[in-house]
Amino acid sequence: MTPFSPAPDFLQATLAGHFGQTRQWHTDTLQLEWLDEGVLAIAPRQPLAANLDCVLLSTGIHGNETAPIEVVNGIVNDLLAGTLPLRCKLLVMLGNPAAMRSGARFVDYDMNRLFNGAHRQQPQAQESARAATLERLAADFFHAAPAGSHRLHYDLHTAIRGSVFEKFAIYPYTDGRAHQREQLLWLESAGVTTVLLHSKPSATFSYYSSHHCHAAAFTLELGKARPFGDNDLSRFGDIDRALRLLLSAATPALPAYDASRFALFSAKYDLLKHSEHFVLHLADNVENFTPLPHGMTIAEDGAIRYVADGGEERILFPNPKVDVGLRAGIVISPCQLG
Ligand SMILES: [Zn+2]
Repeated sequence: MTPFSPAPDFLQATLAGHFGQTRQWHTDTLQLEWLDEGVLAIAPRQPLAANLDCVLLSTGIHGNETAPIEVVNGIVNDLLAGTLPLRCKLLVMLGNPAAMRSGARFVDYDMNRLFNGAHRQQPQAQESARAATLERLAADFFHAAPAGSHRLHYDLHTAIRGSVFEKFAIYPYTDGRAHQREQLLWLESAGVTTVLLHSKPSATFSYYSSHHCHAAAFTLELGKARPFGDNDLSRFGDIDRALRLLLSAATPALPAYDASRFALFSAKYDLLKHSEHFVLHLADNVENFTPLPHGMTIAEDGAIRYVADGGEERILFPNPKVDVGLRAGIVISPCQLG
């Protein structure tokens, strides 16, 4: 029987629906297992060390965020072709193939609000079953990590809207664990120096793997979402290069941490949409990280008024069109590492 393989192109094979039962195969240097639609585990056949780092790269959690999907696909294809060496255990996930096929952010429900068990509240959404599957596969991957190995998860996105800071990371709530300066330095090597330190649990994939799998996990927002073929991949060169170095264990010595090179923010509060009367007093095309002048009414919802305070607050992820009960934006402010 011919060994099954998504080569020569993992993305095209996934979009074409080439997935049936669990399939394992190997190349000269790699052991591979296609675990589910768009989910591929890759490890060196003859690891040089017992405690290889475990890296999860997920992308396409939002199906229309195509540039990071193309970046990750290029890396996978080079690994499969043997032109990029692998010196860690890698799990690659193309998060929402159904939405990717239709060029949509999601089919039934925003998948990045369905992790950490939130999928159980939306059983009707097709993304719920998928989120549960991705949780299980991520947990299996990290729980099998050798003692002493690093567990890393980068969930790659692009944003709906423009941003004052083109690239930024969300460091999910760490449940009280210290923020890792070396991770911020790695992000800097990937061209990301704006970081939101989240202050409470959320239903995102990165919080799931941070909370349940104790991975150093990040949601990376790497630019603006565009359709397949419309991306200027040169704008994604830094992350592409940094990921390739990470996977081949060739990350150069990173400089000492210097707070002045980073713009760190913490979430102050969510703009919650309590009712259909919610009104956001920001332009439809307002960019992420737009400053909110002191005293400005950011949003109103019946008797509730959200008013900017202090002059250093900024808006993140404004979206008044979300369903009632959901977050319509985050008000953030500058912070330092503790
Ligand atoms: Zn996204």
